[in-house]
Amino acid sequence: MNKAAFFDRDGTINVEVNYLYKIEDLKFIEGIPELIKKYNDNGYKVIIVTNQAGIARGYYTEEDMHKLHRHINAELKKIGAHIDAFYFCPHHPEHGIGKYKVDCNCRKPKPGMIEQAIKDFDIDVSQSILFGDKPWDIEAGEKCGILSIVV
Ligand SMILES: [Zn+2]
Repeated sequence: MNKAAFFDRDGTINVEVNYLYKIEDLKFIEGIPELIKKYNDNGYKVIIVTNQAGIARGYYTEEDMHKLHRHINAELKKIGAHIDAFYFCPHHPEHGIGKYKVDCNCRKPKPGMIEQAIKDFDIDVSQSILFGDKPWDIEAGEKCGILSIVV
């Protein structure tokens, strides 16, 4: 089994910008790239779990988000760090457009994204940790039995 460090994205690894998708608006929170590297070096899977209602609302596309995520990993690579996987929820139960208007099981505080990652990476929750800045991050982590810390 693997141990994992889960991170929320907006407000936890990058400075919160409303509906961030532009590469030029990405700014890491101080110390976070080094923290990610520490988990990489200690054998943790580093996994992002992020609600992306901006996709549901039509403000940007999944591809815009993937571009930003590739950029995040390119920046981290400069210090020898990386994110192993990004899980995202593109849904919103009320404001979603078309296929994105879903009362899904992945939008935090629901645990769907974390549960999927646990399956995909064979994660031992007792050896794992989650960092987030919002109550719903912590709630989602705790539902999965993961020590969850507010940053
Ligand atoms: Zn969802």
